[in-house]
Amino acid sequence: MTDIAMPTDLLIDGAFVAGEGEPEKVLNPSTGELLATVPEASADQVHKAVSAAHRAFDGWSETTPMERSRLLLKLADAIEARAEAFARLESLNCGKPYARSLGDEIPAIADCYRYFAGAARCVSGTVANEYLAGHTSMIRRDPVGVVASIAPWNYPLMMAAWKIAPALAAGNTVVIKPSEQTPLTTLLLAQVAAEIFPKGVLNIITGRGASVGQTLVEHPKVAMVSVTGDVSTGRKILQAATGTLKRTHLELGGKAPVIVFDDADLASVVDGLRTFGYYNAGQDCTAACRVYAGAKVYDRLVADLSSAVKTIKAGLQDDPDAEIGPLISDRQRNRVASFVERAQMSGHMEITAGGKARAGAGFFYEPTVVAGARQEDEIVKREVFGPVVSVTRFNDTEQAIAWANDSDYGLASSVWTQDVGRAMRVAKKLQYGCTWINTHFMLVNEMPHGGLKSSGYGKDMSMYALEDYTVARHVMVKL
Ligand code: NAD
Repeated sequence: MTDIAMPTDLLIDGAFVAGEGEPEKVLNPSTGELLATVPEASADQVHKAVSAAHRAFDGWSETTPMERSRLLLKLADAIEARAEAFARLESLNCGKPYARSLGDEIPAIADCYRYFAGAARCVSGTVANEYLAGHTSMIRRDPVGVVASIAPWNYPLMMAAWKIAPALAAGNTVVIKPSEQTPLTTLLLAQVAAEIFPKGVLNIITGRGASVGQTLVEHPKVAMVSVTGDVSTGRKILQAATGTLKRTHLELGGKAPVIVFDDADLASVVDGLRTFGYYNAGQDCTAACRVYAGAKVYDRLVADLSSAVKTIKAGLQDDPDAEIGPLISDRQRNRVASFVERAQMSGHMEITAGGKARAGAGFFYEPTVVAGARQEDEIVKREVFGPVVSVTRFNDTEQAIAWANDSDYGLASSVWTQDVGRAMRVAKKLQYGCTWINTHFMLVNEMPHGGLKSSGYGKDMSMYALEDYTVARHVMVKL
């Protein structure tokens, strides 16, 4: 499986070039083996990429929505035509089961480009009117300019799609930097995109955040920075953007509360948590990781969830039965393990499933349930970003809402109950970008994804993303 060609070249101004900066080792997290060495972009190459995007902006922003739409549709087709190659590379680089990459992610990625291909043609503004006698005002939505996009390692090709599609649809040009740990599918995308878009419209560079990312964000010709990553990264990027007052689009972490009322359909809650708490080994900013269970249902939920979680099958990429893979790195696994160790040492929490790193090669960690967690516990407050779900008992609805909202994060949440009125009342009170009722985790390209509070404020997907990647302008004509 590893004898497939590894893309390592950057795409700058329509040309494929080797990075001239530090070499970065890219590993297979399932085995710990080296997949490729990808040299990062030098500062000069970052500058060339931004300059190319800047030169291309005039022409690209003048294209009609129909023309941009046509090329985005072509990109979607080209990704689907190479679906297996993309899925294989993604699963190798992230450790994800190949079947999940191919069956879940590639269709959603192609659909994202198709959605924005259509959305580009449907941007509507307010009607022109004479708000001042003898003067006609109209609103334009115009592209921002060069967008620097910075992506994380959990869904590399999908995060690239969420950033590239709305930005290009709106008429911006893009320089994107994937995570240094997972650059491979974005570099393969470069090969596909280079045949479709005019040179300079999409540039792809690799490298670490502190070197390449920082240089990119600080570049004076970058008009907007879009980042998906950790809260601390969001803060650094905001600081770097202050120099030239760039527009920013931040999609940061999450710690999704899951409120399970006593009347919930327990079998479907357990089934849902088994999937939505552990998908992608829990490396998901919306993972259903912080459960609040009603007092009557708590014991059964902990018992049934723990039994269910023990049946989750972790495995190598090609194992057709594997549901989840390893964590992205040894470092991430150690981080996850240390959260669980500290929970174990607390004296009041109990590990009722998992709780250990898996022996042998790769960065596997057992799917874990931490029962008896209290609101003030670290495992309830901080993002673990691994296959670990905590369960906390609550006594009444007000307490559940207060605890759910008592978080620095505000990305995703869910409510499980058979009482529609209660579900709606609680959903209204939750300070989260998304609240699911009797489900969790489901995303569609037509609906916005983004957070409140420290989870950031950018919206991905939907017409709201198209708004984020455009500026509203007033044009007034004296009649
Ligand atoms: P990270 O913050 O470590 O890295 C994200 C990206 O930022 C990488 O490309 C990295 O190289 C770059 N970066 C780091 N420092 C930088 C700097 N100073 N300047 C410019 N770029 C810099 O995040 P990660 O570990 O790759 O991903 C996990 C995090 O992403 C989690 O916190 C997760 O919740 C979050 N996430 C959020 C969403 C969302 O939609 N809100 C989606 C996926 C992941």
